[in-house]
Amino acid sequence: MEQTFFADTMLGKLARWLRIIGCDVAYAPTLDDAHLVVRAQVEGRLILTRDTLLIRRRWVREHHYFVEGDHWRDQFRQVVSAFGIDPFQQLLTRCLECNEPLRDVARVAVADRVPPYVLGTQERFEECSTCGRLYWGGTHRERMVAELEKLLGM
Ligand SMILES: [Zn+2]
Repeated sequence: MEQTFFADTMLGKLARWLRIIGCDVAYAPTLDDAHLVVRAQVEGRLILTRDTLLIRRRWVREHHYFVEGDHWRDQFRQVVSAFGIDPFQQLLTRCLECNEPLRDVARVAVADRVPPYVLGTQERFEECSTCGRLYWGGTHRERMVAELEKLLGM
């Protein structure tokens, strides 16, 4: 089974980039540590953290990955490498806000929900079943691939 994560409150940018490449990463900045730990435990997620107090908690001791580096770019490189994640295999398959996997939605079904130009130029649309946000865009994907290659020194 694929590794799932729970990013601590200080790692929002890392969480977002991991979602961009399709990782299942819970992130809930309003949760306090105790609730975060319980949720990670119930959902079987590995806690990503750089909080030296948090990792002293009993369950967390054995269920965390300590993220080095103050900058999200270093953190991202470290996690991708440590878990052997292929950054392109599941690129943009997850809602960046909710962490839900996206599902294909027919073009005709989104006709009144996207600007006419987008409808005219895009063929493939995906939707988050939780928040209803729509995703599309070849150019967006190309830009993201270029950014990832730069980021990961590929
Ligand atoms: Zn969503």
